[in-house]
Formats: sequence, C-alpha cells, structure tokens
Amino acid sequence: MALPVVAIVGRPNVGKSTIFNEMAGDRISIVEDTPGVTRDRIYTRAEWLTHEFRLIDTGGIDMGDEPFMNQIVQQAEIAIDEADVIVFMVSAKEGLTESDERVAKILYRTDKPVILAVNKVDNPEKRAEIYDFYALGFGDPYPISGTHRTGVGDLLDRIVAEFPDVQTEEEDDAIRFSLIGRPNVGKSSIVNALLGEERVIVSDIAGTTRDAIDTKFTTPDGDEFVMVDTAGIRKRGKVYENTEKYSVMRAMRAIDDSNVVLMVLNAEEGIRDQDKHVAGYAHEAGRAIVIVVNKWDTLEKDTYTMNEFEQHIRNEFQYLSYAPIIFVSAKTKQRLNKLPELIKQVDENHKRRIQSATLNEVIMDALATNPTPTVNGKRLRVYYATQVAIQPPTFVVFVNDPELMHFSYERFLENQIRKAFDFTGTPVHLIKRARK
Ligand code: GDP
Ligand code: GDP
Repeated sequence: MALPVVAIVGRPNVGKSTIFNEMAGDRISIVEDTPGVTRDRIYTRAEWLTHEFRLIDTGGIDMGDEPFMNQIVQQAEIAIDEADVIVFMVSAKEGLTESDERVAKILYRTDKPVILAVNKVDNPEKRAEIYDFYALGFGDPYPISGTHRTGVGDLLDRIVAEFPDVQTEEEDDAIRFSLIGRPNVGKSSIVNALLGEERVIVSDIAGTTRDAIDTKFTTPDGDEFVMVDTAGIRKRGKVYENTEKYSVMRAMRAIDDSNVVLMVLNAEEGIRDQDKHVAGYAHEAGRAIVIVVNKWDTLEKDTYTMNEFEQHIRNEFQYLSYAPIIFVSAKTKQRLNKLPELIKQVDENHKRRIQSATLNEVIMDALATNPTPTVNGKRLRVYYATQVAIQPPTFVVFVNDPELMHFSYERFLENQIRKAFDFTGTPVHLIKRARK
C-alpha cells in the first residue's frame, strides 16, 4: 500500500510547481472546489507507465517568516526525510546560482537518489547551458521545459527506475487506520492512551522511508490494528513540523495509506478550514471515516451540549453525513475504549458486499415508493444495479439514459441503499451507466 514518494526541491522560481502540475496530470478534485480550501497543491498521487507514486512539491511548504535561505534549506531537509527519490530542480534561464549550491550542500548529506533536472531548456540552443550544472556533482542533468512540456517523459523514466523494489507486504487482516487532525488536538495523547491499555500488545513496523513507522497492536479481543504513521504523530522536534502545509501533506500521505481515517477535532476549538481540507481529501479518497471529538472533558456540559456539537459538525461537514461521531477525552479516557470497536465496525461496512439479488429488491422497492422522474418528456428508467467494488462500496446502476438521473434521484437511491444495509462510516459510490 505504501507507494514510493518523490519530492521536488530547488530554489523559488525554477519551475517546481509547473512540473508538479505537469506530472500530476489534470486531476480534477472536489476538494479544491470546496470553499476555504487552498488551491495550490503540494501533494498529489501520480502515475507513470505502470508505476504509481506520490509527489511532493516542497516549494509549497512555506515556513512563514523564516528567512529565505532557511526556507530552502528546510525544504531540502523535508525532501530528505519524506522522499524515496529526490528531484533537484535548477533553471537554465537564470543559470547556476548561490541558492542552488546551498540546496546541493544539504542534498549531499543523503544516500537517497538525487536526480538533477534543468528546467527552462526551451530550445536547442539552451541545451549547451546545462553543462554548467555538472559542477553540482549530481551526474548527468536532465534538460526539461515546463513551458514546452519537453523532457519530462525522460525524467519520469529515470525517476521510476530509482524506485525501491516493491516490498511484498504480508497481507493480513489487520485494520489500517490513521489519526488525522491539526497540531494539539490530542492525536498523540489518544495514541498513547490506546497503546497504553493493559493487555494491548504493540509492535513497530518499519516503512519504506526511514521515518514512516506504523504501529501494529492487538486488542484483548484479538482484533489486530495497524496505526499508520505513528512516527508522524509523535513529535520529532523538527522545525517545520508545526507548519500547516507540512502537517496537511503528512495527513494526506497517512490517509492514502489507511482504510479508516479518524478525523480528530478539538472540542475546545471547534472546526477550522484545515480540518475541512483534510476531511475532504479523505472523503474523496473513499476512505471510511470516524469523527473523533477529543478534549470532551474541557467543556461545561448540559443535556444539549452533545446534540448541539453534533449539529455543528453536521453543518460544517455536510458531505460526511455517513461518518459516526464519538466524543472522547484522552485525559480522562472517557469512551476511548469504544474506539477500536467503532473502527472495526466502519471497516466492516467499508468492505461490505451486497448480493445482486438483495440489492435489486431494494432498488425495485425504491422505484415503487418514488417513481423515476420525467425530464423533457423522457422518463428515467432504472433497470438493475450491481456492486462492482468495495473500500468504498461502489455500485453500478444501469439506466436508459444517465443524463436523466439527476443528483436528487441519485441521492434518493443512495439513501434507500443506506437504509437497507449498514454503510455507517463509509462513502458509497454510485456510477450510472447506460444499458447497452
Ligand atoms: P517554483 O517557484 O519553482 O514552483 O516555480 P513556478 O512553477 O512557479 O515557475 C516560476 C516561473 O517560471 C513561472 O512564471 C513559470 O511560468 C515559469 N516557467 C516554468 N517552467 C518554465 C519553462 O520551462 N520555461 C520558461 N521559460 N519558463 C518557465
Ligand atoms: P497532537 O499534537 O494532536 O498530537 O496533540 P497532543 O496529544 O500532543 O495534545 C496536545 C495538548 O492537549 C497536550 O497538552 C495534551 O495534554 C492536551 N490534551 C490531549 N488530549 C486531551 C484531553 O482529552 N483533554 C484535555 N483537557 N487535554 C488534552
């Protein structure tokens, strides 16, 4: 499940984000259309030939007020910490600069493969200028042009050639989950409380990169869990650790690696844009989701507090209406013992398979209660449905004309499916298709 990670580093303006977008392809994302979400992406999934990987644009991780040189040095350190392969980008237009040399010095410290890409080689004459960059000591430079989209294929060939051999991960029944949330919401306190329980058996698993360490544990009931990226949750004291962009990037990686995402909120502080951004990514990635409201001990409560808080969450995260909400305290341990069971339940729902016959009984009942609409004199006809995937459960609905099935009818069908089967905690995908 853990895909190789490629990071792009280099001083500002060499074309990192241009090349990042080129490599990412045009992945239209609902997350980015959500208001309050930052548009500039710094993390994405990408693929080249048969290889899937993750791509980080370290240039997008800004360190606030830090001086310019400190920022590029830290970005290079992030690349060394996070990546399996590093793309060091320079520019033929401006030529070799002092900042390039500064970045190079940091990159000398790593044993990881570093590939030198010279961007802005927009025409054959410019090719002569790439030779200056041999002085950086990273071997043959790869000439590319973000503007003309040239050379990127060769660069990608080289990148995928450097990927570590695919680890044959032992497939087991352990449930992979991650804890996601802003700094200080209490993630590491929850981790410590869960792992510190008596009769919980814990073992660390090394990941592909040095820092990506998962933790496996077994509950007294014998259920096995893998907590993804525990190392990222426990603070390592790096300067950049608490910057927002970095923690969002780290969260996205953990989401990609898990089946169940625990979205941790702080009862004291409520919901912020960063929470929405990350929750939107988990939803879009089709992960099972549990909303965990921590620090429940800090609120003065009456009979309405929990309902009001729940209502607030439902308003803020309308697309997560399927996610259960649990109110906990890592400090007093209130309800924390319910968490493993809840993770297990939503994981089961996430992998639930429905027999076609049973599914179609539900669809036929739905059609009887709420007949299909007519659009411009043409009536929508729904013939049958079948489940084509799990994690998340995905159904293909065969109709006469997909254009006739509007969002409201689609949502009605999804609700009927949810009424008939337990899909708590998981998104459900409906794909409409014309019957041939
Ligand atoms: P970053 O700061 O390293 O992420 O750089 P950007 O991707 O924002 O690009 C900086 C500037 O260089 C922008 O104005 C881009 O349009 C421009 N640029 C990017 N790639 C090329 C290229 O191949 N040739 C030329 N001439 N300009 C480019
Ligand atoms: P993280 O950055 O999300 O991993 O958050 P931490 O686990 O480091 O917690 C941040 C702070 O909140 C620490 O001072 C914790 O002691 C405190 N904290 C964590 N959980 C709770 C809780 O349930 N109740 C209260 N009152 N404080 C908590």
